[in-house]
Amino acid sequence: MKVNIIGGGVSGMTAGIYLQMNGFETHIFEKHSIPGGLCTSWVKGEYTFDSCAHWILGSDTGSSFYKIWNEILDMKKIQFHNHDVRLEVGLKDNVNKYGEKTFYLYTNLDRLEEYMIDLAPEDTKAIKAFMKPIRVMQKFDLPPILDDLPFIPSMIRGIKMMRYLEFLYWFLKIKNYTNYTYARKFKNPFLRESFELLYDGDEVNMMVLTVPLSIFDKQSAGYPIGGSMAYAKKIEQSYLNHGGTMHYNTPVKKIITENGVAKGLLVRNNVSHFSDLTISAADWKFTVFEALDGKFVDQKMIDLKNLKGLEVFYSVMQFSFGIAKDLSELPHFFRYPLDEPLVSPDGTSYPRFEIHVYNYDATLAPPGKTVVTVSFYTTNREFWIDSRKNNRPKYRAAKTEMVNKIIDILDKRLGIRDNIEVMDVATPATFQRYTGNWKGSTQGWLPGKNIVARSPVGFKLPGLKNFYYSSHWNQPGGGLPIAIKTGRDVAKLICKEHNVKFEVKADHL
Ligand SMILES: Cc1cc2nc3c(=O)[nH]c(=O)nc-3n(C[C@H](O)[C@H](O)[C@H](O)COP(=O)(O)OP(=O)(O)OC[C@H]3O[C@@H](n4cnc5c(N)ncnc54)[C@H](O)[C@@H]3O)c2cc1C
Repeated sequence: MKVNIIGGGVSGMTAGIYLQMNGFETHIFEKHSIPGGLCTSWVKGEYTFDSCAHWILGSDTGSSFYKIWNEILDMKKIQFHNHDVRLEVGLKDNVNKYGEKTFYLYTNLDRLEEYMIDLAPEDTKAIKAFMKPIRVMQKFDLPPILDDLPFIPSMIRGIKMMRYLEFLYWFLKIKNYTNYTYARKFKNPFLRESFELLYDGDEVNMMVLTVPLSIFDKQSAGYPIGGSMAYAKKIEQSYLNHGGTMHYNTPVKKIITENGVAKGLLVRNNVSHFSDLTISAADWKFTVFEALDGKFVDQKMIDLKNLKGLEVFYSVMQFSFGIAKDLSELPHFFRYPLDEPLVSPDGTSYPRFEIHVYNYDATLAPPGKTVVTVSFYTTNREFWIDSRKNNRPKYRAAKTEMVNKIIDILDKRLGIRDNIEVMDVATPATFQRYTGNWKGSTQGWLPGKNIVARSPVGFKLPGLKNFYYSSHWNQPGGGLPIAIKTGRDVAKLICKEHNVKFEVKADHL
């Protein structure tokens, strides 16, 4: 049975690998000349600028996502780097008892607890209360990925989920806290300010802090040495080894349908590729409202398109620098408040600055040189997307204005102005252009307040047969784990619907 897949991102390749394992003939049509989609890095001069895999959930056995990664890749052959300190936060107003103005967010929970209690013994009770839900969460798969969850009757699913009651209890206890409101639990001013400054800008729900901490401690959210593109190429190689076919530089224009049945793809130069089944692993809005002309939708999808149901995840501005200087003594990731907010041409004001120093991956720069990146989330992506489309000089001028401000701030902190050999600016327009993601979204939908709610984006579309959808848009919050999970689930669903016993086959298993 032949399956056409739109998109050679992580989700499309994952679906392809599992279907190849189960005897299907798959073809991936990718508009770009390379695999990976958002999981990417790019080379400029002697430097590789990375853009995605800061942490891969399931890089080791401490998360059950490891099982999926290890089914599609030989994980033992991939080198991951786990940081001792997730982030160093520079403070503005307070010093600790040692006269330091930096808070260290250690990844080892025992060390973090000990460090916090040493700094603020008066807050011992509050610190232990902060640690408790994190340690409880370590007992669960997060997000829950019970193997057959999408395919089992809801009552059995409910029973299986009962074991999550302890998690639910702690989740409900902290779900209404943000890092700002939680900070007020601490009497110690240093700790209070540290918690307020943990994120780049807005208040963030405590789950965004506690879930990663529960996983970092188990060394199961590492960075793959070589960066995101090298990682994506490993997935591509696995797909090819399983017998799949990649069609690069082949943008899909339309999904061909006949009487409510998907029949194939219309690609560039109006060439048609017919198949028994079709999967789209490309942008959700493009798939539903452009490739299928909005013919297979219900009210829920129209609401989603009109942004009534969910918001689109932030896009990102990334400024990358190749610096002819050994920065191995610097922390790999630090954030500090600025004296004056940095105002972007898109109108966003950033009170804090984050610097990412890739001094832990020697493959990204020649010896003695270092890649440094500075990035910011933005929701004012239309400014960048529209000005690139309609007013290129304005777009270029805005990029130059912002990069100059950033170099000034970087130079003040690191003294690197004269060592910058190459630089690169990626805006929401860049992410949208290269991957087709709506509004340059980096992770699909933004999770709403109810972060455990069921996703409104399913694997199928109403009224359309022989068609499936899988990508990070399936589950608010997105990310690589969701991309592989949805790719696997779609393959499994196809096997189930076509009476094929789903099997995992790989030489290394
Ligand atoms: C700066 C940044 C940092 C991130 N950091 C992390 C992180 O640390 N950890 C993490 O887990 N996740 C991270 N993510 C998110 C993660 O990269 C994405 O959620 C994930 O890669 C999405 O995979 P996907 O396959 O669902 O979609 P995509 O990567 O968007 O893949 C879709 C593919 O479809 C192709 N396509 C689109 N339209 C067409 C068409 N018409 N015809 C043919 N092909 C088409 C695209 O070119 C693309 O290759 C980050 C993302 C960014 C941008």
